[in-house]
Amino acid sequence: MRPFEYQAPATLEEAVALLQKWGERARPLAGGTDLIVQLRRGMRQADLLVDVKRIPELTAIRYDPTEGLILGAAVPCADVADHPAVRAYYPALVDGAGIIGGSAIRQRATVGGNLCNASPSGDAIPPLMVLEARAEIAGPKGRRSVPVSSFCLAPGRSALAADELLVSLRLPPPGPREGARYLRFTPRGEMDIAVVGVAAWVRWDESYTRISAARIALGAVASTPLLAQEAAEALIGREPDEAALAQAARLAQEAARPIDDVRGTFLQRLHLVAVLTRRALRDALQRAKGAQIDGE
Ligand SMILES: Cc1cc2nc3c(=O)[nH]c(=O)nc-3n(C[C@H](O)[C@H](O)[C@H](O)COP(=O)(O)OP(=O)(O)OC[C@H]3O[C@@H](n4cnc5c(N)ncnc54)[C@H](O)[C@@H]3O)c2cc1C
Repeated sequence: MRPFEYQAPATLEEAVALLQKWGERARPLAGGTDLIVQLRRGMRQADLLVDVKRIPELTAIRYDPTEGLILGAAVPCADVADHPAVRAYYPALVDGAGIIGGSAIRQRATVGGNLCNASPSGDAIPPLMVLEARAEIAGPKGRRSVPVSSFCLAPGRSALAADELLVSLRLPPPGPREGARYLRFTPRGEMDIAVVGVAAWVRWDESYTRISAARIALGAVASTPLLAQEAAEALIGREPDEAALAQAARLAQEAARPIDDVRGTFLQRLHLVAVLTRRALRDALQRAKGAQIDGE
């Protein structure tokens, strides 16, 4: 690995100033579970790593019934998955953050790093998308906010400029009769990258008969995680019977643009999109009734 400088600023302003000064030669460092591997393999170069784990705003996690969840970008996945409010109000985020790597990786790996790495298979990203999370960003020109659903632009490339930092993720508070679920398929039970990941979010109507709103996000089936909008819209106003779920699954397959690679073939991925979409929708509907799903 090429030698690099290391700095661990204590404030956001210092971190942004370092990024501005060093430009493309600097990289923010959170848990390092993607970045250090990439530097070691020569997939990325950096002359300066700016460790963001000492900045209080990035390490805080706070839930407020009006504001929702404010999740600092550098909070480790283990803390996210164990947080009582996240477990109570955002179980789909626990589904995603709680399966990244093994338990040792999750002590270091962060949800913010998972998003900024912008991998098509990042497990935290589809849940954040269906939960309508926004990425709060700081840079030399001030703050801005971007929906997570438009944050990833290409594999490894995000909406962040070289001198910008992800500060936090903001998730709106959950409403009544809403539920969400993230499921992935991996050949191994743990320490594996998703062949396909699907997040589903639903809201029942007041009589718990029909679906009044839905969102579906797909991972590992295109160059970025994506929202399967037509699949979700087809569910609105429908009773979630087999025909409705099968139609959503078929439309989700149409939204997917999978490739053949070492982890899975085009056809296997298409098949998995349908299977996981149905299962994630069923589980999300259960959660939206306040019921526990199998394995919880
Ligand atoms: C053994 C192993 C198993 C893994 N298993 C999984 C898995 O099951 N699922 C999965 O999705 N991933 C997996 N990963 C990948 C990785 O652990 C995750 O993507 C993790 O969430 C990355 O977080 P991090 O804090 O380590 O990010 P880092 O490696 O520190 O950073 C990742 C990228 O984001 C940038 N970055 C980080 N924080 C910020 C910020 N605040 N602002 C701007 N840019 C920032 C960095 O510059 C870098 O480009 C695995 C990795 C390993 C080594």
